[in-house]
Amino acid sequence: MSDTQSPEDKKPAPQIDLERLSLVAIATHNMALILDASGFIQWVNPSFEEHTGHQLEDVAGARPRDILYGPTTDPETVRRIDCKFHRAEQFEEDILLFTRSGAPFWVHVYCVPTGAEQGVKPGFIVIMNNISDRKQGERGLRIAASVFDRSHEAIIITDHNNCIVDVNPAFSRITGYSRSDVLGLNPSILSSGRHSQAYYRAMWQSIEKTDHWRGEIWNRRKNGEEFIELQSISRIHLDEPGSYYHVASFTDITALKNHAKELDRVANYDELTGLPNRQQLEDRLRRARAQADLHEQNLAVCYLDLDGFKVINDSFGETAGNQMLCTLAGRLAKALRSGDTVARLGGDEFGLILQGDNNNAVYDRILSIINEPLDPGTGTGPISLTASLGITRYPADNSDAEGLIRHADQAMYSAKEKGRNLLHFFDPELNEHRQQRREQLTEITRALENQEFELYFQPQVRIAGCKVVGFEALIRWNHPHRGLLYPDAFLPTLANSHLEVPLGQWVLKEAIHQMNLWQTAGEDLSVSINISAQQLMDRSFTGFLESYLHSHPDVKPSQITLEVLESTALDDIRLAGNVLARCQELGFQIALDDFGTGFASLTYMRTLPVDQVKIDKSFVSNMLDDGNDRAIVESVIFLGQRFAHPIVAEGVETMEHIRALHQLGCDYIQGYGIARPMPASKISGWLNEWRKEKARKNTQELPHAGKAGVAGVANASEAYRTANDNDAGPAL
Ligand code: C2E
Ligand code: CA
Ligand code: CA
Repeated sequence: MSDTQSPEDKKPAPQIDLERLSLVAIATHNMALILDASGFIQWVNPSFEEHTGHQLEDVAGARPRDILYGPTTDPETVRRIDCKFHRAEQFEEDILLFTRSGAPFWVHVYCVPTGAEQGVKPGFIVIMNNISDRKQGERGLRIAASVFDRSHEAIIITDHNNCIVDVNPAFSRITGYSRSDVLGLNPSILSSGRHSQAYYRAMWQSIEKTDHWRGEIWNRRKNGEEFIELQSISRIHLDEPGSYYHVASFTDITALKNHAKELDRVANYDELTGLPNRQQLEDRLRRARAQADLHEQNLAVCYLDLDGFKVINDSFGETAGNQMLCTLAGRLAKALRSGDTVARLGGDEFGLILQGDNNNAVYDRILSIINEPLDPGTGTGPISLTASLGITRYPADNSDAEGLIRHADQAMYSAKEKGRNLLHFFDPELNEHRQQRREQLTEITRALENQEFELYFQPQVRIAGCKVVGFEALIRWNHPHRGLLYPDAFLPTLANSHLEVPLGQWVLKEAIHQMNLWQTAGEDLSVSINISAQQLMDRSFTGFLESYLHSHPDVKPSQITLEVLESTALDDIRLAGNVLARCQELGFQIALDDFGTGFASLTYMRTLPVDQVKIDKSFVSNMLDDGNDRAIVESVIFLGQRFAHPIVAEGVETMEHIRALHQLGCDYIQGYGIARPMPASKISGWLNEWRKEKARKNTQELPHAGKAGVAGVANASEAYRTANDNDAGPAL
């Protein structure tokens, strides 16, 4: 078009075929309506039919408001439109309409009145575009904007240069920076300087790799105050390749953290001294233990308890006491190397973890720190305290954290027992031993309840006449897993325990019960019963004997010999003498067992009321080869004769023994050479065999050298080789 053209030169409008022009109205995607001058529909195009679901023939003659408006159509817009129609004015509006089936949709309405001016009948042309998608988008944006504005989380949006393009009000609230303060700046203006370069590098690496990062960051408010935030950053990619922005949102978790810290303090630290408490000590010990394993190092765990602190508290008052505890806590903490721990375990007790190897000087120093003068602040001048220190060392003591603390505690008690201001080391081996002993004692208790103990009986024979004079009752344990156990497997454990007396009483009862049974069966057998020193010295001993005999009137006490171990030092020999004398009064026989093995054999023989002496089998076994042992046996027999005490030789295994003993003047023998100990059920069978054999040999003679004279023991040594406790028939 040229500027020089005049209006008169305007080309005439091209002639348009009206038919084809009307096709535009039919083909367009816009909705088109033709209304008459009163606003009633005369025609709608197919797009209208498609959008609204209303067909032309149904809506012709209706007003648009009757078929298109719905409950949420804005009445204000409706009012404006009505007004325009009324005045026959052109208008444009956005309005929410409803389809025939009730579905809402937004349209932009453009309405022009038509009439004579255009050379047509008066009325209106209405064009409507469906703008639902746009409205939806606008709505989303409005929601997003309100989220941005109203969120309690601070939100920062930065561009690809990480310059701030927007922040929300929460950001300003939390950081103190207004929007205009920070627009265009890098968020690093918030940096507290607490984090290393590496920390931020890792953050950006994560964003590059995953478009995301989340973590805690220490930042600084505008007023300089530091705060910790939980932040998440997302990288948002735009449609154009390579262009993106970042959205970071964060909450201020300082209060939360402080609360957690406070909880941690209450849970892990002692209120008075501020030192770690027991729980914290255990935690640290667990870690220290793992570290020690890793680096193959040692650890020491100490338990320190002030001596007599109660008195201090009582005399100076609790406040002064607390003050002193705080002072000591401070001194101990100061004395430690880094990596070591001192904790307050309660009251006046402290726990320490010391890394590496520590010599005694270290422990002495800990005690001397406590000794340093301390002012109770009551005007009385400084005082000096002492403590007891228990120490256990890992990994020599390979217990868990709790166990180590417990062991240090035990060691501390041992230190206290020794006196004041002392230390004591926990001994893992001793502890192991004690532990096993405790377990075995528990097992023995169970065994007593389950009747797992049994008495075996071993015959005692008078050499002259080969007469069986009695049996020694010997305890056995039919262990459910370990089989038959001999006394040396469990009596040492029992020694001096609370079970020694109950087991001894069981033996007494069982032996007397057995004698009763034999008696009813017509056998009048004597029984020797072993009595331990503790049992003998137990106050209830003679009372128990008396009452038990009382309930078994058929058993004569004279048939019972109480064997008292000579080798066990009887602590109070006078008391022992009294008890034994009382037993003799009751009619019991007393034998001094294992004679010659103790330190005070002669004293015992002279002082104690004794009816019989048993020479220990250790002397008898060796008497044939060892001149000294033979001399001892000889002297004991001689002494016995002088004191008029019959002598029983134990451990008699062979004919040679029997002959030698007989020659020396020994009266009675007991040993595998006669028979092994056997269960009660085997006794009468064995006795019958013994008597039969004796009758068959008809030998009342005493054995002489080279001549096997004693019935039943002729081939004793052979019997010894083949016999065993479980099958203890007569040694023939
Ligand atoms: P002890 O009182 O010296 O009992 C004799 C021990 O010598 C028994 O051992 C017996 O089996 C064993 N013996 C007998 N003849 C021979 C032999 O010819 N050669 C050898 N080498 N040994 C022989 P056992 O039954 O193992 O008992 C061991 C110890 O246990 C007893 O020694 C006694 O001190 C104690 N004991 C056994 N039963 C009881 C009991 O009921 N109460 C108490 N307090 N102690 C008991
Ligand atoms: Ca004995
Ligand atoms: Ca013995």
